[in-house]
Amino acid sequence: MIYTTFGIPATADSYHAVADRDQLLTLLQQHRTTAPPLFILGGGSNVIFSSHYHGTVIHLENKGIHLIGHDPENGDLLVQAAAGENWDSFVRHCIDNHWHGAENLAAIPGTVGAAPVQNVGAYGTEAKDIIHSVLAIDTVTGQERTFTNDECRFGYRDSIFKNQLKGRYIVWAVTFRLHPRFTPDLRYKGLADALEASGLNNPTARQMADLVTTVRWNKLPRPEETGSAGSFFKNPVVPAAQYLQLKQQYPGLVAHPAGDNYKLAAGWLIEQAGWKGRSLGHCGVYHKQALVLVNLGGCTGSEVVALADAITADIQSKFGVTLEKEAIIL
Ligand SMILES: Cc1cc2nc3c(=O)[nH]c(=O)nc-3n(C[C@H](O)[C@H](O)[C@H](O)COP(=O)(O)OP(=O)(O)OC[C@H]3O[C@@H](n4cnc5c(N)ncnc54)[C@H](O)[C@@H]3O)c2cc1C
Repeated sequence: MIYTTFGIPATADSYHAVADRDQLLTLLQQHRTTAPPLFILGGGSNVIFSSHYHGTVIHLENKGIHLIGHDPENGDLLVQAAAGENWDSFVRHCIDNHWHGAENLAAIPGTVGAAPVQNVGAYGTEAKDIIHSVLAIDTVTGQERTFTNDECRFGYRDSIFKNQLKGRYIVWAVTFRLHPRFTPDLRYKGLADALEASGLNNPTARQMADLVTTVRWNKLPRPEETGSAGSFFKNPVVPAAQYLQLKQQYPGLVAHPAGDNYKLAAGWLIEQAGWKGRSLGHCGVYHKQALVLVNLGGCTGSEVVALADAITADIQSKFGVTLEKEAIIL
C-alpha cells in the first residue's frame, strides 16, 4: 500500500495506523525509550519518501466531527474535527450542516490534522482564517495542549508546528470558527471570474465548493490520476527593490504585494525558464501548471530530487531568486 499522493513506493522501520488516543499514548511511551526518528503522516499529499525511512511512521486515522459550541456574542459556531478526517470530507460535512467559511478550501487533498501545520490555503482563504484552536499531544510528555489561533503563529504555508515546535506536537483535533450564514468569498479574482462565467448570481455554499473544485482540477492533477504533491515550490518573497528590477526586465512577471515585499509566482518563473512540460527520467513538470512536479509512472525519489534541484539552480541563475520547496522530501 502506498500512502503518499506522489505514488513512490517506500518503506519505514515501523508503521502504525492510529485511530485511538490511548494507542497513540502507548506508542509514544514506547517510542521515548528507543527514540528513533518519528514522522506523523496524514494523507501523504505534501510529503515524498525518497528512500527507506529509518524511523517510525505514525499515520493518524482518528475520526469525528462535532459542533461543540456557539459564541453567544456573534453566533459563530465552534466545530471540532479529528486530525485523521479527510479535509474535503470535512468541508463537505460542514456545508451539509450549514457551518460556513471553509468553502474555498474544498478539495485540498489531505487531512484536517495537517491543515494547521501547513496553514493550507486556496482561492483567497487560508486555514488560519477559520481555525479557532488546535488540540495537540506532546510527543515527549504525552500531555495535551491547546494552542489558540495566535499561538499557532500562522504564516504563508507555515505555523509553529513546522518551526519552533517542529516534531514536538501531534495535532489530534482542530476546532474551527464557522458561521451559520454563507457569504461567498470572492477576493480571488480567478474565482470571481469563474463564478461570473458560470452564470450563477447567488451561489449556494455547495455550488461555491463545486465551483472551487472544478477550477482546481482544471489546473491541477487529480491525485487518483497523476501522482504529485501539489505545489512543489513556495512562491518566493523578495524585497520590493528586487521585484522592481525583475519587473523592468520581465514586464509579464506575476507577483503580489506581501507587506513591504513582493510574492512572486514561482510557477511563472519556472514556466518562463522553459521547464513547463519537461521531464528528467520519470519525473516531470506538469504541462498545465509549472509549479507542480508529477510522477510520469515509475518515478523514483532521486529523480524528484534531481529535477527539483535542476529547476532551483536554473531559477537562481536566471532570476537571482531562491526557490524553497513546499513539499517535504524525506
Ligand atoms: C493535487 C494537490 C493539490 C494541492 N493543493 C493545495 C492547495 O491548494 N493549498 C495547499 O495549501 N496545499 C495544497 N496541497 C498540499 C497538501 O494538500 C497540503 O499540504 C495538506 O495539508 C497535506 O495534508 P496531508 O494530511 O496529506 O499531510 P501529509 O502530507 O501527510 O503531511 C504534511 C506535513 O504535515 C505533518 N502532519 C500531518 N498530519 C499531522 C498531524 N496530525 N500532526 C502533526 N503533524 C502532522 C507531517 O508530519 C508533514 O510534515 C495540494 C496537494 C496535492 C497533491
